[in-house]
Amino acid sequence: MLINSKAVALLLSTSIAIVTTAFLSLVKDVSVIALLVAFGISFSSTYLLSSLTLEFLIFKEINKIYTVLDKLKKKDLSFLQTKIEKKSLNPLKRIHEEIFSYAAIKQQEINDLKNLEMFRREFVANISHELKTPIFAAQGFVHTLLDGAVEDKKIRYKFLKKAAKSLDGLDRLVHELLTLSQLETGEIKMRYEHFNIIETIEDVHEQFEDEAEKKNIKLKVNIPENVTEIHVYADVHRIYQVLTNLVSNAIKYTKKGGGVYISAWPNESDATVTVEDHGRGIPASDINRIFERFYRVEKSRSKDKGGTGLGLAIVKHILEAHNTKVEVTSKVGEGSSFSFKLPQGKTSVADGIVPFANEKDV
Ligand code: ADP
Repeated sequence: MLINSKAVALLLSTSIAIVTTAFLSLVKDVSVIALLVAFGISFSSTYLLSSLTLEFLIFKEINKIYTVLDKLKKKDLSFLQTKIEKKSLNPLKRIHEEIFSYAAIKQQEINDLKNLEMFRREFVANISHELKTPIFAAQGFVHTLLDGAVEDKKIRYKFLKKAAKSLDGLDRLVHELLTLSQLETGEIKMRYEHFNIIETIEDVHEQFEDEAEKKNIKLKVNIPENVTEIHVYADVHRIYQVLTNLVSNAIKYTKKGGGVYISAWPNESDATVTVEDHGRGIPASDINRIFERFYRVEKSRSKDKGGTGLGLAIVKHILEAHNTKVEVTSKVGEGSSFSFKLPQGKTSVADGIVPFANEKDV
């Protein structure tokens, strides 16, 4: 830059020195040496004072503003990494601070938009992939039948059964997606009531009894001894759905001969519900991600087992709507435990009961 603090100071000090010397020359009998000394002193002192003032109070800040604006133009936001001290009295410094914080806000907005865009793209890719699998499978079976296999009674039945299974999977996926989106938009409201969670657990147990038996899996309910009622305050249908998803997973990911345990016990102000299995477990690196939509530890295996990849995302949303969360502990090869707490409702459970005093087979 041609005009900088030194050039302006030079100009200013020269003019002041000339004016001062000119005035001094009007005095009678003043010597040339005195005039030169006066010129030198006024020039150097004005130069020093003005260049320092201009450099530190004005030009330095203006240059900083220019640098920031230049970087903003080039979309280089690296300057946001450096911290600036706030609330300066210098108005130019304040402008610099304002530009800096404005850029920081814009950068945050850009990051959020980028994340949203990535999330949307990933979601569309995932959903297309998930929908494609059952549609292609059903389409394949129907076309094979149309191409002649329909004549063979045995094959006809087998293929129709397979096509129906794929379409059932599709139906489940669409249904779960709808539930998830309605939970997210708040369309599904929690209907709170006081109910006995033991009854809900027994209903879930009854629902999965046959499935567990077919897989030779021990499905048990653990309730503290002498406890017949654990009242909680929650949405009974949604908690039933949470338990269904957790127990269905526990059975799905447990080998033949393993065990699945649904437990509940009262605490001082709430109740704990746990679904535990002696299945294959979840690696520590995956635990934080299993609640994401479509996240699967072993992609192919979950799909073979009829999983949509949305079960735990639904669990998370329902429990969040209850202002609670699900805790997971797991060890590969040993099993997993999913537990959550619900606020206590009206309860008739006596004090001083030791949880798990016995294990009750239902
Ligand atoms: P999916 O329909 O695939 O079961 P979920 O959302 O219910 O979808 O679960 C996400 C993933 O978490 C599963 O694919 C599986 O890898 C893992 N997972 C969930 N529950 C268990 C469990 N009890 N034992 C082992 N892995 C589990």
